[in-house]
Parts: sequence; C-alpha cells; structure tokens
Amino acid sequence: MAQLIDGKQISKQIKDELKIEVQKLKEQGTGICLAVVQVGEDPASTVYVNNKKKACAYIGIESRAYELPETTSEEELVSLVEELNQDDSVNGILVQLPLPEHINEDRIIRTISPDKDVDGFHPVSVGRLWIGEKGFLSCTPAGIIQLLKRSGISIEGKECVIIGRSNIVGKPMAALLLRENGTVTIAHSRTRNLAEITRRADILIVAIGKERFITSEYVKDGAVVIDVGMHRDSENHLCGDVDFKDVEPRVSAITPVPGGVGPMTIAMLMNNCVETARR
Ligand code: NAP
Repeated sequence: MAQLIDGKQISKQIKDELKIEVQKLKEQGTGICLAVVQVGEDPASTVYVNNKKKACAYIGIESRAYELPETTSEEELVSLVEELNQDDSVNGILVQLPLPEHINEDRIIRTISPDKDVDGFHPVSVGRLWIGEKGFLSCTPAGIIQLLKRSGISIEGKECVIIGRSNIVGKPMAALLLRENGTVTIAHSRTRNLAEITRRADILIVAIGKERFITSEYVKDGAVVIDVGMHRDSENHLCGDVDFKDVEPRVSAITPVPGGVGPMTIAMLMNNCVETARR
C-alpha cells in the first residue's frame, strides 16, 4: 500500500504553527492584515475567498474584504490596489483571480507592491525565486515542498518530473525543486514520448488540468506522485489529473484528491501573510 500524503493534516499542522507565531507577534504589538479583493460574483471565486477569510480568522490574521461589482473598471481596480500599497495598516494584498475579461490581470498583478505580494505572482517575486533570493513563494508549489518534506520524502538528487508549465504551478515548482537540489524536467503539451519521460521520475508532479489523465503506464514502480489537478467528474465526484485507483498500487506515496495539494495552497498563503510581519 502506498503512503497517503495527507494534505489536510499537514496544512492543519502548518496553520497551528502559524497561529502560535501570530499570537506571539500580537503580544509584541504586531498585527497582520490581509486585504482580499474580489471583483464580481463568480461562485468558485466566492468559495475560495471565503476559505481564505476563514483561514485568516483561525490563525488570528485580520482579513479586510473588498467586494467590487463585475462592472468595476481596470482603472478603478488599479487605484484601489495603489491605495492598499500605501496603506501601512495592510500587510498583504490578494486579488482573487480570474478577473472579469475587461481587466488585464497582468497589469493588476504588477500593480501590487512586491512587499505585499502574498500570492507570489509579481515578476519581482518570480525573479527572486529563480535567483534564490528571499521573497514570497507561489503558494501551491510551496505547499507541495512542505507536503514532501513533512512526509519524510527527500528531494535532493532525485529525478523530479513536472507535467505542466503554468506560471502559477509548473514553473515555480521547477524553481523550488531545483532549490532543494532535485534534478528537474518540465514536460508540457508539446513534449514527445511523455510516458518515457515521466517513467524516469522518482517524484512526479502532475499539473495538466485533465481529469484522470495519468495512469499507471506513466509512472515507475515506487515513485512519489503529487496530483495538483482538481476536477468534478461526470458523477460530480472530485478527482485529480491522476487516475488514483490505477496508479496507487504502483507507487510508494501519493496525494489524494481531495485532501492532498488543495488544502496546502491556503496554508502557504497564510505563511506568506505571516512572512510580511517576520520581515
Ligand atoms: P494550466 O495553466 O492549464 O496548465 C496546464 C499545463 O499542462 C500546460 O503547461 C500544458 O502545456 C500542459 N498540458 C496540457 N495537456 C497536456 C498533455 N496532454 N501532455 C502534457 N502536458 C500537457 O493549468 P494550471 O493552472 O497549472 O493547473 C493545473 C491543474 O491544477 C488544474 O486542474 C487546476 O485546477 C489545478 N490547480 C490546483 C491548485 C490547488 O490549489 N490544488 C492550484 C492551481 C491549479 P502547454 O503549456 O504546452 O499548453
């Protein structure tokens, strides 16, 4: 039986550690405030935003909600973010993505001060990550590193294969695994002989965005498999990019969906919020 990497339990552990740290900071007179900006009422975004607010409340971080109508213009959103950049009572700024189509997401991401960029999406944060400087780490990949470390899985010297090269998962994941001395390969939709490459992996990270795409023929015996994907199948069950039932018997450790990578993203967002105060 493969080791089940329990993201729920590990994220709880991290949040409890942060709660203690935030309490200590409060005793020293340092509070933490996260501004959470949502434009429009996309139901999935509302769920994510509410989960982030709940996590803030649990840890003792103040969350300040800015709920703007769908019709908000790009200029109005830029002005709000600039105001929040200047506001010393705000430590971190989170603008929930995706934004409505008439707003340029890249411009908004670049408007957030790199000192308050708790999502780690600003080009300055990305650059710092790649050159090994301290900075905010993209939350999902940072969460995956914690999942591995806290499950006793070492990265150093391992063949790490990532499927997916998005800016929020695949690319920062590569930088972080490299930082941990993994040997990293990134595969994508133009990769030839995908299974041949993924079968080399000691650690396989799957962020394709395709339901149950990875079956046992893509993994080698004893590999560690991390499934970033999140879907609802035709029977309304949550599932990942990995065909769990097929792959699990073959591997040494695997994340379930739900309860694997998902809960880690918010835990690492909370860690970035606390990081603003540690500085
Ligand atoms: P994305 O931006 O759609 O990127 C998907 C990547 O997979 C692309 O790089 C694409 O290659 C590659 N790809 C697509 N089809 C492929 C194929 N047949 N063979 C090899 N590579 C293929 O997705 P994302 O934002 O990184 O997210 C990936 C998944 O993770 C989604 O299911 C998303 O919902 C989930 N997610 C979960 C969390 C969480 O907190 N749990 C966070 C973020 C994302 P090209 O670049 O060549 O197109």
